[in-house]
Amino acid sequence: MPDGNSPRSGLRLFTLFDIEIRLDVSVLFIFGLIVYSLGGGVFPDWHPTWPVSTIWVTAFGAGILFFASLLAHELSHSLIARRYGIRVPRITLFLFGGMAEIESEAETPAAEFNIAIAGPLMSLAIAVSCMIFVASALDRQSLEQVVANPELGMESLGPLLTISLWLGSVNFLLAIFNMVPGFPLDGGRVARAFVWRVTGDRMLATRFASTAGKYFGWIIMGVGLWELLALKSMGGLWLILIGWFLSHLATQSYAQVATQHLLAPLRVRDIMRTRFETVSVDMAINQFVDDCLLRSNQLLWPVMEGHRCIGTVSLNEVMRLPVASRQGLGLGQILRSLADSGALDADMAASKPSPGLRALAMARCP
Ligand SMILES: [Zn+2]
Repeated sequence: MPDGNSPRSGLRLFTLFDIEIRLDVSVLFIFGLIVYSLGGGVFPDWHPTWPVSTIWVTAFGAGILFFASLLAHELSHSLIARRYGIRVPRITLFLFGGMAEIESEAETPAAEFNIAIAGPLMSLAIAVSCMIFVASALDRQSLEQVVANPELGMESLGPLLTISLWLGSVNFLLAIFNMVPGFPLDGGRVARAFVWRVTGDRMLATRFASTAGKYFGWIIMGVGLWELLALKSMGGLWLILIGWFLSHLATQSYAQVATQHLLAPLRVRDIMRTRFETVSVDMAINQFVDDCLLRSNQLLWPVMEGHRCIGTVSLNEVMRLPVASRQGLGLGQILRSLADSGALDADMAASKPSPGLRALAMARCP
Protein backbone atom coordinates (compact mmCIF):
# COMPACT_ATOMS: atom_id res chain seq x y z
CA MET A 1 0.00 0.00 0.00
CA PRO A 2 1.38 3.41 -0.84
CA ASP A 3 1.12 6.11 1.77
CA GLY A 4 2.26 9.68 2.17
CA ASN A 5 2.75 9.71 5.87
CA SER A 6 4.60 6.78 7.35
CA PRO A 7 6.94 7.35 10.25
CA ARG A 8 10.67 7.27 9.54
CA SER A 9 11.63 4.33 11.69
CA GLY A 10 13.72 1.21 11.65
CA LEU A 11 16.94 0.15 9.98
CA ARG A 12 18.19 1.47 6.68
CA LEU A 13 18.88 -1.54 4.47
CA PHE A 14 20.03 -0.26 1.08
CA THR A 15 19.10 2.07 -1.75
CA LEU A 16 17.37 0.80 -4.88
CA PHE A 17 16.54 3.02 -7.88
CA ASP A 18 17.40 6.01 -5.65
CA ILE A 19 14.78 4.91 -3.11
CA GLU A 20 15.89 4.25 0.44
CA ILE A 21 14.72 0.82 1.63
CA ARG A 22 14.08 0.63 5.37
CA LEU A 23 13.12 -2.20 7.67
CA ASP A 24 10.93 -1.63 10.70
CA VAL A 25 11.90 -3.86 13.62
CA SER A 26 8.37 -5.31 13.64
CA VAL A 27 9.35 -7.13 10.42
CA LEU A 28 11.76 -9.30 12.42
CA PHE A 29 8.80 -10.48 14.49
CA ILE A 30 6.66 -11.32 11.46
CA PHE A 31 9.65 -12.87 9.66
CA GLY A 32 10.25 -15.10 12.69
CA LEU A 33 6.56 -16.02 12.73
CA ILE A 34 6.56 -16.95 9.03
CA VAL A 35 9.77 -19.02 9.22
CA TYR A 36 8.50 -20.69 12.41
CA SER A 37 5.12 -21.63 10.93
CA LEU A 38 6.69 -22.89 7.69
CA GLY A 39 9.55 -24.79 9.35
CA GLY A 40 7.51 -25.99 12.31
CA GLY A 41 4.29 -26.96 10.52
CA VAL A 42 3.73 -26.42 6.81
CA PHE A 43 6.92 -27.86 5.27
CA PRO A 44 7.20 -30.92 7.58
CA ASP A 45 3.58 -31.71 6.58
CA TRP A 46 4.42 -31.41 2.89
CA HIS A 47 7.75 -33.25 3.18
CA PRO A 48 7.72 -35.78 6.04
CA THR A 49 10.96 -37.34 4.74
CA TRP A 50 13.05 -34.15 4.59
CA PRO A 51 15.86 -33.73 7.13
CA VAL A 52 15.30 -30.98 9.69
CA SER A 53 18.11 -28.85 8.25
CA THR A 54 16.53 -28.85 4.75
CA ILE A 55 13.17 -27.89 6.25
CA TRP A 56 14.54 -24.89 8.12
CA VAL A 57 16.82 -23.64 5.32
CA THR A 58 13.84 -23.82 2.93
CA ALA A 59 11.62 -22.00 5.45
CA PHE A 60 14.25 -19.30 5.90
CA GLY A 61 14.62 -18.87 2.14
CA ALA A 62 10.85 -18.66 1.74
CA GLY A 63 10.69 -15.95 4.45
CA ILE A 64 13.37 -13.87 2.73
CA LEU A 65 11.71 -14.22 -0.68
CA PHE A 66 8.36 -13.27 0.83
CA PHE A 67 9.76 -9.92 1.95
CA ALA A 68 11.54 -9.52 -1.39
CA SER A 69 8.17 -9.92 -3.11
CA LEU A 70 6.59 -7.33 -0.76
CA LEU A 71 9.41 -5.01 -1.71
CA ALA A 72 8.80 -5.65 -5.42
CA HIS A 73 5.12 -4.76 -4.86
CA GLU A 74 6.02 -1.43 -3.22
CA LEU A 75 8.73 -0.70 -5.78
CA SER A 76 6.28 -1.01 -8.62
CA HIS A 77 3.94 1.53 -6.95
CA SER A 78 6.95 3.78 -6.43
CA LEU A 79 8.41 3.58 -9.91
CA ILE A 80 5.07 4.31 -11.56
CA ALA A 81 4.54 7.23 -9.13
CA ARG A 82 7.91 8.58 -10.16
CA ARG A 83 6.90 8.43 -13.83
CA TYR A 84 4.18 10.92 -12.87
CA GLY A 85 6.79 13.20 -11.30
CA ILE A 86 5.92 12.26 -7.69
CA ARG A 87 8.89 11.86 -5.36
CA VAL A 88 9.27 8.59 -3.43
CA PRO A 89 12.12 9.02 -0.95
CA ARG A 90 11.75 5.70 0.86
CA ILE A 91 9.97 2.40 1.29
CA THR A 92 9.57 0.91 4.75
CA LEU A 93 8.78 -2.76 5.31
CA PHE A 94 6.82 -3.20 8.53
CA LEU A 95 4.49 -5.51 10.46
CA PHE A 96 1.60 -5.36 7.99
CA GLY A 97 3.61 -5.35 4.78
CA GLY A 98 5.26 -2.49 2.96
CA MET A 99 4.70 1.23 2.84
CA ALA A 100 6.00 3.39 0.02
CA GLU A 101 6.28 7.02 1.09
CA ILE A 102 4.73 8.68 -1.91
CA GLU A 103 5.18 12.37 -1.24
CA SER A 104 2.16 13.85 -2.91
CA GLU A 105 -1.23 12.84 -4.21
CA ALA A 106 -1.72 11.85 -7.83
CA GLU A 107 -2.96 14.75 -9.94
CA THR A 108 -5.35 12.85 -12.21
CA PRO A 109 -7.63 9.82 -11.80
CA ALA A 110 -5.56 8.01 -14.44
CA ALA A 111 -2.33 8.56 -12.49
CA GLU A 112 -4.03 7.42 -9.26
CA PHE A 113 -5.31 4.30 -11.00
CA ASN A 114 -1.95 3.37 -12.54
CA ILE A 115 0.05 3.94 -9.34
CA ALA A 116 -2.47 1.91 -7.29
CA ILE A 117 -2.84 -1.00 -9.70
CA ALA A 118 0.93 -1.39 -10.20
CA GLY A 119 1.46 -3.13 -6.83
CA PRO A 120 -1.23 -5.84 -7.09
CA LEU A 121 -0.20 -6.42 -10.73
CA MET A 122 3.37 -7.05 -9.55
CA SER A 123 2.14 -9.50 -6.87
CA LEU A 124 0.02 -11.22 -9.50
CA ALA A 125 2.98 -11.36 -11.90
CA ILE A 126 5.13 -12.97 -9.18
CA ALA A 127 2.34 -15.49 -8.46
CA VAL A 128 1.97 -16.39 -12.14
CA SER A 129 5.76 -16.63 -12.66
CA CYS A 130 6.09 -18.97 -9.66
CA MET A 131 3.29 -21.17 -10.96
CA ILE A 132 4.77 -21.24 -14.48
CA PHE A 133 8.15 -22.13 -12.98
CA VAL A 134 6.64 -25.02 -10.99
CA ALA A 135 4.63 -26.25 -13.97
CA SER A 136 7.59 -26.11 -16.36
CA ALA A 137 9.92 -27.90 -13.95
CA LEU A 138 7.62 -30.88 -13.54
CA ASP A 139 6.92 -33.53 -16.14
CA ARG A 140 3.31 -34.16 -17.07
CA GLN A 141 2.90 -37.10 -14.73
CA SER A 142 4.20 -35.29 -11.61
CA LEU A 143 2.10 -32.23 -12.47
CA GLU A 144 -1.04 -34.36 -12.69
CA GLN A 145 -0.11 -35.95 -9.39
CA VAL A 146 0.27 -32.55 -7.67
CA VAL A 147 -3.09 -31.39 -9.03
CA ALA A 148 -4.92 -34.66 -8.30
CA ASN A 149 -3.50 -35.25 -4.85
CA PRO A 150 -1.68 -32.16 -3.59
CA GLU A 151 -0.52 -33.78 -0.35
CA LEU A 152 1.13 -36.75 -2.04
CA GLY A 153 2.26 -34.82 -5.11
CA MET A 154 3.92 -32.16 -2.95
CA GLU A 155 6.32 -34.75 -1.58
CA SER A 156 8.00 -35.09 -4.95
CA LEU A 157 8.89 -31.36 -5.07
CA GLY A 158 12.40 -30.18 -4.18
CA PRO A 159 13.09 -27.13 -1.95
CA LEU A 160 13.10 -24.62 -4.84
CA LEU A 161 9.78 -25.83 -6.23
CA THR A 162 8.29 -25.97 -2.73
CA ILE A 163 9.25 -22.34 -2.12
CA SER A 164 7.87 -21.34 -5.55
CA LEU A 165 4.56 -23.03 -4.89
CA TRP A 166 4.19 -21.38 -1.49
CA LEU A 167 5.41 -17.96 -2.66
CA GLY A 168 3.12 -18.11 -5.69
CA SER A 169 0.02 -18.79 -3.58
CA VAL A 170 0.95 -16.15 -1.01
CA ASN A 171 1.48 -13.52 -3.69
CA PHE A 172 -1.82 -14.45 -5.27
CA LEU A 173 -3.56 -13.89 -1.91
CA LEU A 174 -1.64 -10.65 -1.49
CA ALA A 175 -2.88 -9.36 -4.85
CA ILE A 176 -6.48 -10.30 -3.98
CA PHE A 177 -6.33 -8.80 -0.46
CA ASN A 178 -4.83 -5.54 -1.70
CA MET A 179 -7.57 -5.22 -4.30
CA VAL A 180 -10.35 -5.04 -1.68
CA PRO A 181 -12.00 -1.71 -2.50
CA GLY A 182 -11.30 0.04 0.82
CA PHE A 183 -9.02 3.09 0.96
CA PRO A 184 -6.07 3.21 1.63
CA LEU A 185 -5.62 -0.33 0.29
CA ASP A 186 -4.69 -0.44 -3.39
CA GLY A 187 -8.20 -1.55 -4.34
CA GLY A 188 -9.57 1.46 -2.43
CA ARG A 189 -7.32 3.74 -4.46
CA VAL A 190 -8.52 2.11 -7.65
CA ALA A 191 -12.14 2.64 -6.51
CA ARG A 192 -11.29 6.24 -5.66
CA ALA A 193 -9.80 6.75 -9.12
CA PHE A 194 -13.06 5.48 -10.71
CA VAL A 195 -15.35 7.65 -8.57
CA TRP A 196 -13.03 10.62 -9.10
CA ARG A 197 -13.10 10.03 -12.87
CA VAL A 198 -16.91 9.76 -12.94
CA THR A 199 -17.76 12.64 -10.55
CA GLY A 200 -14.71 14.84 -11.13
CA ASP A 201 -14.61 15.33 -7.34
CA ARG A 202 -11.53 13.92 -5.63
CA MET A 203 -12.76 14.62 -2.09
CA LEU A 204 -16.07 12.87 -2.70
CA ALA A 205 -14.18 9.91 -4.16
CA THR A 206 -11.85 9.81 -1.15
CA ARG A 207 -14.78 9.93 1.26
CA PHE A 208 -16.47 7.10 -0.58
CA ALA A 209 -13.37 4.90 -0.70
CA SER A 210 -12.29 5.52 2.89
CA THR A 211 -15.80 4.81 4.23
CA ALA A 212 -15.63 1.51 2.34
CA GLY A 213 -12.19 0.92 3.90
CA LYS A 214 -13.54 1.58 7.37
CA TYR A 215 -16.43 -0.87 6.93
CA PHE A 216 -14.10 -3.46 5.46
CA GLY A 217 -11.89 -3.14 8.56
CA TRP A 218 -14.96 -3.67 10.77
CA ILE A 219 -15.96 -6.75 8.78
CA ILE A 220 -12.49 -8.26 9.23
CA MET A 221 -12.66 -7.45 12.95
CA GLY A 222 -16.08 -9.15 13.08
CA VAL A 223 -14.75 -12.26 11.37
CA GLY A 224 -11.78 -12.27 13.76
CA LEU A 225 -14.09 -11.99 16.77
CA TRP A 226 -16.22 -14.83 15.45
CA GLU A 227 -13.13 -16.97 14.88
CA LEU A 228 -11.90 -16.19 18.37
CA LEU A 229 -15.19 -16.84 20.20
CA ALA A 230 -16.93 -19.50 18.09
CA LEU A 231 -13.94 -21.42 16.76
CA LYS A 232 -11.71 -20.68 19.75
CA SER A 233 -8.91 -19.97 17.29
CA MET A 234 -6.18 -17.51 18.26
CA GLY A 235 -5.85 -16.61 14.56
CA GLY A 236 -8.90 -14.45 15.23
CA LEU A 237 -6.76 -12.08 17.29
CA TRP A 238 -4.58 -11.46 14.26
CA LEU A 239 -7.65 -10.65 12.12
CA ILE A 240 -8.99 -8.28 14.80
CA LEU A 241 -5.63 -6.49 14.80
CA ILE A 242 -5.53 -6.22 10.99
CA GLY A 243 -9.17 -5.06 10.87
CA TRP A 244 -8.56 -2.43 13.53
CA PHE A 245 -5.45 -1.25 11.70
CA LEU A 246 -7.31 -0.97 8.39
CA SER A 247 -10.28 0.96 9.75
CA HIS A 248 -7.94 3.24 11.69
CA LEU A 249 -5.84 3.79 8.58
CA ALA A 250 -8.94 4.54 6.49
CA THR A 251 -10.10 7.23 8.93
CA GLN A 252 -6.62 8.68 9.31
CA SER A 253 -5.92 8.70 5.57
CA TYR A 254 -9.18 10.51 4.90
CA ALA A 255 -8.34 13.15 7.52
CA GLN A 256 -4.93 13.58 5.93
CA VAL A 257 -6.32 13.99 2.41
CA ALA A 258 -8.99 16.40 3.69
CA THR A 259 -6.38 18.51 5.50
CA GLN A 260 -4.15 18.60 2.43
CA HIS A 261 -7.16 19.64 0.36
CA LEU A 262 -8.04 22.49 2.76
CA LEU A 263 -4.46 23.71 3.00
CA ALA A 264 -3.70 23.41 -0.70
CA PRO A 265 -4.41 27.06 -1.65
CA LEU A 266 -2.65 28.46 1.45
CA ARG A 267 0.92 29.55 2.27
CA VAL A 268 2.53 29.31 5.69
CA ARG A 269 2.07 33.10 6.07
CA ASP A 270 -1.73 32.67 5.74
CA ILE A 271 -2.05 30.41 8.77
CA MET A 272 0.89 31.35 10.99
CA ARG A 273 0.53 33.12 14.26
CA THR A 274 1.78 36.69 13.93
CA ARG A 275 1.02 38.07 17.38
CA PHE A 276 3.03 36.44 20.10
CA GLU A 277 4.97 37.29 23.21
CA THR A 278 8.72 36.86 23.49
CA VAL A 279 10.83 36.09 26.57
CA SER A 280 14.31 37.17 27.59
CA VAL A 281 17.14 34.66 27.70
CA ASP A 282 17.87 35.73 31.31
CA MET A 283 14.39 34.86 32.59
CA ALA A 284 14.32 32.17 35.31
CA ILE A 285 12.64 28.91 34.28
CA ASN A 286 10.25 29.04 37.24
CA GLN A 287 9.22 32.59 36.38
CA PHE A 288 8.66 31.50 32.76
CA VAL A 289 6.34 28.72 33.96
CA ASP A 290 4.36 30.98 36.34
CA ASP A 291 4.15 34.14 34.24
CA CYS A 292 4.09 32.79 30.70
CA LEU A 293 3.16 29.12 30.27
CA LEU A 294 0.40 29.14 32.91
CA ARG A 295 -1.08 32.46 31.79
CA SER A 296 -1.18 32.13 28.04
CA ASN A 297 -2.30 29.75 25.32
CA GLN A 298 0.90 30.44 23.40
CA LEU A 299 2.76 27.15 22.99
CA LEU A 300 6.08 28.28 21.62
CA TRP A 301 8.05 31.26 22.94
CA PRO A 302 10.83 32.97 20.99
CA VAL A 303 13.77 33.66 23.32
CA MET A 304 15.40 37.07 22.86
CA GLU A 305 18.90 38.24 23.60
CA GLY A 306 18.54 41.98 23.30
CA HIS A 307 16.74 42.48 19.96
CA ARG A 308 17.92 39.20 18.50
CA CYS A 309 15.94 35.93 18.59
CA ILE A 310 18.36 33.15 19.55
CA GLY A 311 16.00 30.20 19.98
CA THR A 312 12.66 28.96 21.25
CA VAL A 313 11.33 27.45 24.42
CA SER A 314 8.12 25.54 25.18
CA LEU A 315 6.63 23.26 27.80
CA ASN A 316 8.64 20.37 26.28
CA GLU A 317 11.97 21.94 27.17
CA VAL A 318 10.79 22.76 30.71
CA MET A 319 9.48 19.23 31.27
CA ARG A 320 12.84 17.70 30.42
CA LEU A 321 14.19 19.07 33.70
CA PRO A 322 12.92 17.66 37.02
CA VAL A 323 11.16 20.34 39.11
CA ALA A 324 13.87 20.28 41.77
CA SER A 325 16.66 21.08 39.34
CA ARG A 326 14.87 24.05 37.70
CA GLN A 327 15.69 26.28 40.68
CA GLY A 328 18.20 28.96 39.81
CA LEU A 329 18.35 28.08 36.09
CA GLY A 330 17.45 30.47 33.28
CA LEU A 331 15.88 29.91 29.85
CA GLY A 332 19.37 30.16 28.31
CA GLN A 333 20.10 26.70 29.74
CA ILE A 334 17.13 24.91 28.14
CA LEU A 335 16.27 26.78 24.95
CA ARG A 336 16.34 25.13 21.55
CA SER A 337 18.61 26.94 19.17
CA LEU A 338 17.07 28.51 16.07
CA ALA A 339 18.69 25.85 13.88
CA ASP A 340 16.96 23.09 15.90
CA SER A 341 13.61 24.88 16.01
CA GLY A 342 12.74 24.12 12.40
CA ALA A 343 12.11 27.59 10.99
CA LEU A 344 9.97 27.69 7.84
CA ASP A 345 9.89 30.03 4.91
CA ALA A 346 6.68 32.08 5.17
CA ASP A 347 6.02 31.50 1.45
CA MET A 348 6.22 27.73 1.73
CA ALA A 349 3.01 25.86 0.77
CA ALA A 350 0.99 25.25 3.94
CA SER A 351 0.23 21.70 2.81
CA LYS A 352 3.90 20.65 2.92
CA PRO A 353 4.32 17.60 5.18
CA SER A 354 3.47 18.26 8.83
CA PRO A 355 4.24 21.92 9.45
CA GLY A 356 3.88 21.53 13.22
CA LEU A 357 2.90 24.35 15.56
CA ARG A 358 6.51 24.83 16.55
CA ALA A 359 7.60 25.44 12.98
CA LEU A 360 4.61 27.66 12.19
CA ALA A 361 5.25 30.05 15.02
CA MET A 362 8.87 30.31 14.00
CA ALA A 363 8.03 31.73 10.62
CA ARG A 364 7.90 35.29 11.92
CA CYS A 365 10.54 35.06 14.59
CA PRO A 366 12.50 38.32 14.01
ZN1 LIG B 1 0.12 -1.91 -2.68
